[in-house]
Amino acid sequence: MVARHRRLNLVAGWTHRQGATKVGRVSTVPGPRTPPLRGTWLVDLDGVVWLAGQPIERVGMAIAALRAHGVRVVFATNNSAPTLEQLLARMRAAGIEAPPEDLVTSAQAAASLIQPGERVLALADGGAREALEARGAVVVEDGPADAVVVGWTRQFTFDRLAQAATAVRQGGRLIGTNEDPTHPTPEGLLPGAGALLAAVETASGRRAEVAGKPHRPVIELIAARHPEVTAVVGDRPSTDGLLARALGAPFALVLSGVTGPGEEPDPPADVVATDLFELVEQATHGTSSTPGESAGTTVGP
Ligand SMILES: [Mg+2]
Repeated sequence: MVARHRRLNLVAGWTHRQGATKVGRVSTVPGPRTPPLRGTWLVDLDGVVWLAGQPIERVGMAIAALRAHGVRVVFATNNSAPTLEQLLARMRAAGIEAPPEDLVTSAQAAASLIQPGERVLALADGGAREALEARGAVVVEDGPADAVVVGWTRQFTFDRLAQAATAVRQGGRLIGTNEDPTHPTPEGLLPGAGALLAAVETASGRRAEVAGKPHRPVIELIAARHPEVTAVVGDRPSTDGLLARALGAPFALVLSGVTGPGEEPDPPADVVATDLFELVEQATHGTSSTPGESAGTTVGP
């Protein structure tokens, strides 16, 4: 993963900002903290809008407040398992109405690497399959295949691992929707798609091309669809933070997902808030609380 991030940084022209200020155990950087109330905010779903599908408190009010201030809100998720309709239904349950074009998924990013008509072995759930079929791919259950797409799925068995690894050894390109090692749930962290992808990489002896945040396929998808991103809101610095850097937008870290108070985000966040509602409160009131205040820790000098 480190090597991939290094490649991304070079490609995106991103350099780690210097002069970080430490507040408690959370570091931040000087300069613009709270994202501006204009343009397009790119908001993560897991750990920001919901935890394992359960809405995070007041998230619907936060999105409504952003929209009331004229901010366009679009959503980007590395979770390739749900279909678009399933994601929209979860959003409605959280009090958020949005059209499907306001969703960018790692499934769509993975599908963008496929040419129409190619045979694709999908070791993934409905969202990835939907995106591949929308792209014009022929989704198959066994090789040979032009590509093997691995995404999060509970249907991950030894036999399916063997089919995927064999198809890759026979020449199929290995594509991962994302490489998140875990995903957050109210009960704690569960294995993410990256854990499954690592098994296929190990068994096939090949490294995968990864499509989702913070990698190039999804960056290109977002840049094409939403050229005016003014903020990236997420709970995972290694995906959302690096995506923000690649897009040249502030990274707003929320502590409602995989990152807890007291953890030092890498890359550093431009602003840290307990959750999306608190972040929007900061933005709409024109204030900029420090990460230490948000995290409930003592603010240093
Ligand atoms: Mg997340």
